[in-house]
Amino acid sequence: MTTVCLIKVQEYNKQKIANGLRLAWQKQNYAALFSSSEKILLKPNMLSAVTPDLAVTTNPVVFGALAEVLADQNINPHLLLSYGDSPAHESMAKAARITGLEAMANDYGLISADFDNGVEVQFPADSFIKHLNIANGVLAADGIVSVSKFKTHALTGITGAVKNQYGVIPGLKKARFHAVYSDVRAFARMLVELNRYLKPRLYVMDAVTIMEGNGPRNGTPRSAGYVLVGTDPVAVDTVMAAITGHNTNKMPLFQLFKQTGFGEVDQEKIDLIVIDANSISDNEGAIKEGALPQLLPELEIEDFIQAKTEKSWMTTATRISGNFSRRFILQRPVIDAKTCIRCGQCVTSCPLEPKALHQENRDVPKYRYDLCIRCFCCQEICPAAAISVRKPWQSSR
Ligand code: SF4
Ligand code: SF4
Repeated sequence: MTTVCLIKVQEYNKQKIANGLRLAWQKQNYAALFSSSEKILLKPNMLSAVTPDLAVTTNPVVFGALAEVLADQNINPHLLLSYGDSPAHESMAKAARITGLEAMANDYGLISADFDNGVEVQFPADSFIKHLNIANGVLAADGIVSVSKFKTHALTGITGAVKNQYGVIPGLKKARFHAVYSDVRAFARMLVELNRYLKPRLYVMDAVTIMEGNGPRNGTPRSAGYVLVGTDPVAVDTVMAAITGHNTNKMPLFQLFKQTGFGEVDQEKIDLIVIDANSISDNEGAIKEGALPQLLPELEIEDFIQAKTEKSWMTTATRISGNFSRRFILQRPVIDAKTCIRCGQCVTSCPLEPKALHQENRDVPKYRYDLCIRCFCCQEICPAAAISVRKPWQSSR
């Protein structure tokens, strides 16, 4: 069995979230995961330089509440706590400023880690990954606390505790690894090995406001009212996937987790500690414990709009039939010419050479679907929400 703490909190109230985290710390003895002289890196989701209301990035209030709880443990934030992430396109400095994370980090004296530069790390000979470029700020830390955001994702279905670690790869190098691990199963396997290498101590997830629909950059914010904490990222993701109505048994991402024995995907084997941050003064009344299936009905979010991902069997079929599937069967990114601001960021983000979309004379970019591997980096990066995912028979370009 593995345990996930779920804090119920309707709004971004730092004190309530910090109180909920303290109760989780107490119940699960998370303090034992840290010592007061270690350098700990907080790794939020800073996908893009956008304001927190869009639900693209980890909300600074959750980040601040966590910094406060870590500071309770005599971890000196000025010396030992750092933070960082590598946005898809902009500099970390710009993303940190606009997301509100820099201001919150400054309030607690956290150091900004170097995510602009990295070094090539070799993985063991028998690993699936041979090498990865990892940010200097990650390698300089003794331990990581992952502070993810729950959102839909066009490639993997959801993004949360496990995928958050992909941001340790600096800048556009991230997109290039999409070309190397182009199939969703290969990408998931890379995520597993990356997480096994980094071994974050703890996974905190901001699910107070989550994202549905065309995530992870251009979906719709949706109120959920949860902050999750656990030591098993797969269990944390499984809980939120279940709450948002995903059938994880049919998702290639979770199938791969199961196949590699990474984390707990079986709902029957996940215990929940539900902490109501609104009635925290009464510790007994604030806590409810039980197996996930037992507590799920009272936590579920109805009519959540999931990402349009391919079915598992379709992913397999694509590997077999190659170009034919790419051109006529698989879902594809499609640009809405009326919304496109012709910035060209989608072209820059495409990891392929030659690229699977091109732009002439600052016109709306055009796709070559026979080349496109459906990594959806272009859809993820578009600042104008002009790219959506559709079936070939639904698209005009
Ligand atoms: S990133 Fe979006 S707005 Fe920019 S050119 Fe591509 S489709 Fe148009
Ligand atoms: S066109 Fe978009 S989805 Fe296709 S390979 Fe390039 S970035 Fe990925």
